[in-house]
Amino acid sequence: MRSVDPKRSRLRMVREQLESRGITDAGVLDAMARVPRHLFVQEALRAQAYEDTSLPIGYGQTISQPYIVALMSQYLEVQKGARVLEIGTGSGYQAAVLAGMGCTVFTLERVRELHQNAVHLFRHMGLSGVHPERRDGTLGMPEAAPFDRIIVTAGGPEVPSPLVDQLDEGGILLIPVGGKRRAQRLVRVRKENGRTFREELDSVVFVDLVGSHGW
Ligand code: SAH
Repeated sequence: MRSVDPKRSRLRMVREQLESRGITDAGVLDAMARVPRHLFVQEALRAQAYEDTSLPIGYGQTISQPYIVALMSQYLEVQKGARVLEIGTGSGYQAAVLAGMGCTVFTLERVRELHQNAVHLFRHMGLSGVHPERRDGTLGMPEAAPFDRIIVTAGGPEVPSPLVDQLDEGGILLIPVGGKRRAQRLVRVRKENGRTFREELDSVVFVDLVGSHGW
């Protein structure tokens, strides 16, 4: 980054993009004030790392806008120690934010290079609470299930049934559902007493969820 101090840029991001738009979860605000987002974007884009925008990360994929990361993290209603499954590691930023909130994060990515970059970055940062795997995340991670929370950071045509199966009692699943790169709604599924309840939240636009239970 030019001569910009990343810590100051982060605090400004939290104030101007998150708090001002109604993000109130202290765990989310605190984690996003600490996680070095500039390390998750390509070097040429570092000066824009704390701007109010999504950014390309290669392979046709993107790191989400900070506000969307915060909003999804807040909708997850996580508590310290929660076991979270993330589908779509991408840059690894969302996983690092959840780890910063005290969660144990299993994060799945289908693109080999993105998976490998994230593995190196998590190691470099000493993030021991994040477990990255390369595979089709629409099938979940049966060997580590059930999960308290599941977050899908790519948009699919429907809620993948294996993910609902792998959600624990009292669990929350969050996923953008709708068209390809357009007109999606964030859907939140809660599992209570063995039944599932579905809520439609904000309109969003995410890259495609590609796989057996995706596009
Ligand atoms: N959470 C990421 C942003 C993800 S972009 C971040 O913080 O940077 C969406 C990612 O989902 C892309 O990297 C894409 O390759 C991945 N993806 C799409 N379909 C997938 C699938 N079925 N399983 C695992 N990853 C998938």
